[in-house]
This record gives sequence, C-alpha cells and structure tokens, in this order.
Amino acid sequence: MTAAQIRQQFLDFFASKGHHIVPSAPIVVKNDPTLLFTNAGMNQFKDIFLGNKPAQWPRVADTQKCLRVSGKHNDLEEVGIDTYHHTMFEMLGNWSFGDYFKEEAIAWSWELLTEVYKLPKDRLYVTVFEGDASENLPPDSEALEFWKRHIPEDRILMGNKKDNFWEMGDTGPCGPCTEIHVDCRTDAEKAAVPGKDLVNNDHPQVIEIWNNVFMQFNRMKDRSLVPLPAKHVDTGMGFERLVRVLQNKQSNYDTDVFMPLIHATVKLCGKKYGETEKTDIAFRVIADHIRAICFTIADGQLPANNGAGYVIRRILRRAVRYYFSFLDVKKPLLHELVPALAEEFRTVFPELANQLDFVKKVVFEEENGFLRTLESGLGRLETITASADKTIEGAVAFELYDTYGFPIDLTMLIASEKGFKVDEAGFTAELQKQKDRSRAATKLDMGDWTILDEQPSGIFIGYTELAADAKVLKYRKI
Ligand code: ATP
Ligand code: MG
Ligand code: MG
Ligand code: MG
Repeated sequence: MTAAQIRQQFLDFFASKGHHIVPSAPIVVKNDPTLLFTNAGMNQFKDIFLGNKPAQWPRVADTQKCLRVSGKHNDLEEVGIDTYHHTMFEMLGNWSFGDYFKEEAIAWSWELLTEVYKLPKDRLYVTVFEGDASENLPPDSEALEFWKRHIPEDRILMGNKKDNFWEMGDTGPCGPCTEIHVDCRTDAEKAAVPGKDLVNNDHPQVIEIWNNVFMQFNRMKDRSLVPLPAKHVDTGMGFERLVRVLQNKQSNYDTDVFMPLIHATVKLCGKKYGETEKTDIAFRVIADHIRAICFTIADGQLPANNGAGYVIRRILRRAVRYYFSFLDVKKPLLHELVPALAEEFRTVFPELANQLDFVKKVVFEEENGFLRTLESGLGRLETITASADKTIEGAVAFELYDTYGFPIDLTMLIASEKGFKVDEAGFTAELQKQKDRSRAATKLDMGDWTILDEQPSGIFIGYTELAADAKVLKYRKI
C-alpha cells in the first residue's frame, strides 16, 4: 500500500463513521499568542474545546501538518538519529465535539488498525492512565474496561501522567489519554529482550503510533481543573509512523514518504544512502528539514531574525551544515529538493506546488546567504576547539552568531560532536546586551513612537509576487 492510499483509507474510514473531512490548518499559527506553530491536530479546534465557539460538525477527521521544534514539544534533536521523530509530520486525527466518547473511539481505533489495515493483533499494546493522587486525577477505569473488550489484559499497560495525561499547554483543555504502540521488533530482537513492557522509548522498534485523548477538563492558570462544558475526543496518529509499520520498514525514512527526497539528494551529491552512519544521518536530516522549511514558507512564514521566522532559519541552517560537512556539497542544495516535495504533496497540500517558484527562490536565497559565512565560521570553531578547554565561552558563541550567522543550537551541535560544551548562559547575556544596545538606538530614532508588534495581524492568504525581493504579503484582517 502506498502512503497516499494509507492516508486516504484513514479519511474514508472516519467518513464512513459519520465524520466530516476538513482541511489541515496552516502550520504557522498567526492568531494565538501561546503557540508559534501547529503542533497537534487539535490546535485548530481549541476554541470549540474551550466552549468559546460552537462546532460546525459534531465529528470531524483530517490530516494536519504539524511542527515540533519549539516550546514543550521539541523533537529537533531526535531527528535523523532515531527513526520516527520528525520536525514536520502529518497527524491523522478524528474528533468528537460533545458527541461520541471513549467507547466508540476505542472500538474504532481497533477496527481501523486490525480490520482495515490488518495489523496483527499480537503486535499491538495499549496504555491507559493510572491516575495521579497528587493532582487528584483518577485512573481511567472506563478506558480500561473498553479496551478489555478488544485486547487481552496483559497487553494493556497502565501509564503515568507524563505519557497518559494530555495537556495542550500550561493552561487549556486536558484529560486522560490512551495510546497504541506497535511492536516492530524482529524475532531475533524479541528473543534478545523478551517481555511486554516495551513502550515509550524502551526499544527503538516498539513505537507509539496513536494517541486517543479524552478531553474532560480545562486547566486554569492557578492549576485547578474545571470540567469542560461537554466531553470531547481528540486523537492523533503519526502518519509517517503508520506508513512505516504498514510497509514493514525498520525506519520511517525507508517509506515512500521520505525516499523520493533521499533519492533526489543522492542524485545531487553523488554519495550513496546506506554507506556510512554519518552520511545517512545527513540524508535523513535533510529529507526531514526540507519538509519543515517548505511547508512553513508556503503557509506564510518567511525565514527571519526573530520569532517563528528564526525557527525556520535555524532549521534551514542546520540542514545546510549537514550537507556542507557530511555530504561534501559546497553550493546550495536544498532548493533543488523543493520540486520533488511539491510533487509528492500536490493533491494533499497543494499550497506548495502552487507557490513552487517562490518557495524555491526563498530557500535558495537563504542557503546561499548562509554558505557565504559557514566555512569561515566552521574554521573559527576549529581554531577555538583546538585551544579551548572543553567549553566554548558565551562571547565566542555570540561572535559565531553575530558574525557568521550560527544559531546557538548549531554551535552546540557542532561543539557536542567535538566533545565540547557551550556556555549558554554567557551567550544569552551577550545577546541581551546586544538587544539593549539596539533598543537604545531605536528609541533615539523613533522619538515618542515604539513598535509594539512587528508581526502583521490577520490570516495569511498568499504571496502576490514570485520574486523574493519584490514580494507583497497578503493578510486578511481578523
Ligand atoms: P513520542 O512519545 O513518540 O514523542 P508523543 O507522545 O509526543 O510521541 P503525541 O503528542 O501523543 O506524541 O502525538 C500523537 C501522535 O503523533 C503520536 O502518537 C505519534 O504517532 C505522532 N508524533 C508525535 N511526535 C512526532 C514526531 N516528532 N514525528 C512524527 N510523529 C510524531
Ligand atoms: Mg513526543
Ligand atoms: Mg509519547
Ligand atoms: Mg503520545
């Protein structure tokens, strides 16, 4: 089964259960001060869960573009190193807004996985919330009972608050969740580590694929829990992980979601995939990062020096450094991957194909710009690490940032490869000094006027020009 068919089957299944299929919300969040990027399928329904807005349909399903590179959910360090965490990924989801609850949600997850996708039942485990007395949270005995109808009890594991209680942020909707894990170990791997307690990162081939959240509470600023006006279901299944399981691969990157990008990179750099661990990590990181970069730009966020734009610039520079150092490519490469990506998603997320030339141009300009200083910056780092004593000082990290455009996490990544640490606090102090200096300068220039918000408010609806230097952004007032 191809990835496209797997995605379609998910949507068809929930449509057959009375769900309305909705489009993905943009990956860039413009109207929520608590969030930079969409990091879960439920984000676009937050107001419904809070009771601020009525639901248009009681049941919906979709595939949502998500990004987990900042804030509470930051998977950047895992990318390319493990086989199933990405920066940008699709989260398949089904929702009930005050309609069905635990019984149906559990039954349908089981039906889809075992009857439609035909996953062997003995490869699945589920987890259920065990409760947390310190926060007055009861165990989820309802979910436990419903699962017992489908799966032997010894495949149900009780999980703690960290893994089995879902919260959107410090405040907002929350509730217990039940997760489904798939055991992808080979027989030899199973024999080496017998036992069933292999969930949540205990073994790299036992992976979480689906989270069913039962939203019952709203977490207030003072940490108290208030019952929501109506109970809701919010589920999220990692699409790339599901494809990997169904295509019987040992890694998400070996599926037809990522291989077209890896093949395209192989062609461009002349190195082979599967030869050394170092180059393979570079191939995987690039295949991952290009997706995050392109979909974010296509949704209206240009790389920039601050805010959400800086997150994208950081990811892009990280990818550039991987091909520069490990694939021996010294000229812009990422922009050459944009057409393959746009083609792959032409029918699911057409916004990329529709803005192909523009996105390609922005990516090219960005990587070209960074390549001008990357080599000197790396040279500077070489000199420093040859003489310094296992720690890179804050002032030096700041110089790399300010003069060579090295984001702090890039300096830290390179430093750790060499067995060095970075004085992060020292770097932050230097950065603050620079901000204070430029604020003082701005005050002089602006007189009574102060810019409060550099981000335009409204909903991004497209670019009107294709040339990066002549672009005009369009926003609709909200
Ligand atoms: P994990 O424990 O593997 O980090 P999670 O518990 O943080 O996952 P959830 O917040 O429950 O993930 O999100 C729902 C689903 O989205 C997960 O079950 C998983 O299949 C998928 N998912 C989460 N993070 C990523 C990621 N970084 N890349 C790919 N898929 C992901
Ligand atoms: Mg996680
Ligand atoms: Mg988890
Ligand atoms: Mg989870």
